[in-house]
Amino acid sequence: MIRRSFIKVGDDLAVDFANTVPRRPGTRDELDSWRALIDFLELRGGLGRDEAAALRAMAADDARGCAAALERAHVLRATARDVLGTLAARRPVPAARVEQVNEALGWGLGAPRLVRRGPGWGLAHTPSVAGPLRALAPVARALAALIAAGRTSGIRQCANPACILYFRDRSRAGRRRWCSMAVCGNRMKVAAHHRRHGRRRLAGARGLA
Ligand SMILES: [Zn+2]
Repeated sequence: MIRRSFIKVGDDLAVDFANTVPRRPGTRDELDSWRALIDFLELRGGLGRDEAAALRAMAADDARGCAAALERAHVLRATARDVLGTLAARRPVPAARVEQVNEALGWGLGAPRLVRRGPGWGLAHTPSVAGPLRALAPVARALAALIAAGRTSGIRQCANPACILYFRDRSRAGRRRWCSMAVCGNRMKVAAHHRRHGRRRLAGARGLA
């Protein structure tokens, strides 16, 4: 069984990947094991089923390599968060970050390949790198595409100051403000309402913070 509990508000593989960090100090890291990392990548479409199964199986033969790749995943995630913060602030992405992404792109050198997908065909990437690091190449490609898109990438951070989630605004009007209307959108609206209606309601608002 693969885990299905990962947050998916980013609307992009690299953004969802960046959003897997613990949301508050002391809370759990969603990518706390090799298996969790591969589950996440498969669930978000970064890895096909067969490739994900092959990578999961690697943990038995190459536990060290997988642990090292998981560490690199956490470093790549920090890079991704940094890049997203820069894009959201509409600042240029520093060359050192681009260099890190370029290095990660190299982990997935290989060739595109048509694979069966349902009744039709889908385009998959067949890596030439044999080791576990290749699992991270799809994230590197997604992140590279965002950097290449620059200002048109539509990257924003949730407008709730207490929320650490990023998303890619693909709405036509480009006015998406929240990671999720159901969570932060409503919470912020309720808080604004309480601010407008004075202190007597603060007790209620506190429960929502
Ligand atoms: Zn939020």
